[in-house]
Amino acid sequence: MKIHNKRFETKTTPKSLAIITAKDASHVQATIKCAKSNNIQIRIRSGGHDYEGFSYVSDISFVIIDLLHLNSVDLNLQDETAWVESGATIGKIYYTIAKKNNSLAFPSGVCSTLGAGGHFSGGGYGNLMRKFGLSVDNIIDAKIIDVNGNTLDRKSMGEDLFWAIRGGGGASFGVILSWKLKLVQITPQVSVFNVKRNMDEGATDVVYKWQLVAPKLHKDIFIRVQHNVVKISGKKIVQVSFIGQFLGTIERLIPLVSESFPKLALKKSDCFLMPWVNSTLFWYDKPIGTPLEALLDEPKYPHPMYLKGGSDSVNKPIPKEAIESIWKSMIEGETLFMQWNPDGGRMEEILPSETPFPHRAGNLFLIQYLNIWIEESSRAIERHVNFSRSFHEFITPYVSNSSREAFFNYRDADIDANHPSNVTKIDIAKAYGSKLFKGNFERLINVKAKVDPKNFFRYEQSIPATRSYESQI
Ligand SMILES: Cc1cc2nc3c(=O)[nH]c(=O)nc-3n(C[C@H](O)[C@H](O)[C@H](O)COP(=O)(O)OP(=O)(O)OC[C@H]3O[C@@H](n4cnc5c(N)ncnc54)[C@H](O)[C@@H]3O)c2cc1C
Repeated sequence: MKIHNKRFETKTTPKSLAIITAKDASHVQATIKCAKSNNIQIRIRSGGHDYEGFSYVSDISFVIIDLLHLNSVDLNLQDETAWVESGATIGKIYYTIAKKNNSLAFPSGVCSTLGAGGHFSGGGYGNLMRKFGLSVDNIIDAKIIDVNGNTLDRKSMGEDLFWAIRGGGGASFGVILSWKLKLVQITPQVSVFNVKRNMDEGATDVVYKWQLVAPKLHKDIFIRVQHNVVKISGKKIVQVSFIGQFLGTIERLIPLVSESFPKLALKKSDCFLMPWVNSTLFWYDKPIGTPLEALLDEPKYPHPMYLKGGSDSVNKPIPKEAIESIWKSMIEGETLFMQWNPDGGRMEEILPSETPFPHRAGNLFLIQYLNIWIEESSRAIERHVNFSRSFHEFITPYVSNSSREAFFNYRDADIDANHPSNVTKIDIAKAYGSKLFKGNFERLINVKAKVDPKNFFRYEQSIPATRSYESQI
């Protein structure tokens, strides 16, 4: 059973009536028809990575459509495109592209086991975004099965629905079977590094400066900052990793970084040159030299970890004292870590209304919070989830709190969610919808009203089909 988060694999977690592992579009069509006539909810699963388990758990009677067998990746090298089915992992997509042509790539996420279905329909955020934007900025067609069982492509679904499924989440609109990707030209060799600084070695200054420079660096450079609590000589401290990538050689990277970000003190010996496809393994924390076939590895189930995620946007630098108090709070909480991902570059050139993903111009960086633990017990779950919640509250003054934001793919039920999920309350939907989609939420409601007016495709954070204040059942 493809469950990527042990939080949703307990004795009390509701189980589905059936799992339909579709091998053909007709299996999806038949399931929709049957579920509709029996008033059963559908959950759609591709890679199963949803942080809140929305692709495989519901609090009312449900069946799962699992697309794992629909996982082909078909390249067209002539026009530099690929049709990929939703059950394909991004690791398989990277691998297939690179095996055929190592000067082509596709911008998407870091974890190679993510499914194309959920990852792309939520945006697809990764380390090529400052150069090329998100996955959805490079998707040019898709095939979806709608509420009436029709298979539609871009032309037959129309531009509104095609817009909505590129960042508004697929599961509010239908079952997406496949995507057509416009591949991007990549330099054959990229430079990568992972430089660590500890809080007692002046890391605060480097992180502060990073906020000012990372979103403004040349768009070929992407430097993520990861904040982890580590134990050194029995003492807990925060260690910061500057994980970076440059689309070019080390010789060109060093002067660029020394000039704009000297505080990082990046050295030639910190950097490694490798083909882009190998860099995807480096980002996934695999040792250098790991064979490319590791991109095809399946995740191990039962999954060993419990997880609680979340996100925020930041549009003004966080002061040094605040950075230190945030770290102090992390040390007290133990297993929560943060990734800060810089915006700017191509992300700033794309209008926030071009896709449902609105967190573009004006943002400095996006924070991802991840609390991952292995301790087994319901009390441990409660303790860790409560800590994530209190940390999110604590960091409020430093993030875009005038209108708090959240990224769809870093799913967090705490930004509000409908329970039970067969009732979509508009006030609750507005609470999560405004954070996830800002000004795009209204257009998403219009699309939903047009393509699924009876709200068949629904879940805890789906798009409502009406603005009316009545509950939609
Ligand atoms: C270890 C890890 C690393 C991650 N790294 C990144 C990252 O680098 N960048 C990033 O952007 N995100 C990242 N994520 C978040 C990830 O993108 C989302 O969880 C995404 O939804 C996963 O897609 P999936 O198909 O694997 O998930 P699923 O759990 O299968 O689906 C997630 C959501 O999409 C819906 N859905 C799935 N398939 C379809 C379909 N075919 N049609 C319609 N709706 C569908 C589901 O119903 C559910 O609502 C990461 C998550 C994990 C666990």
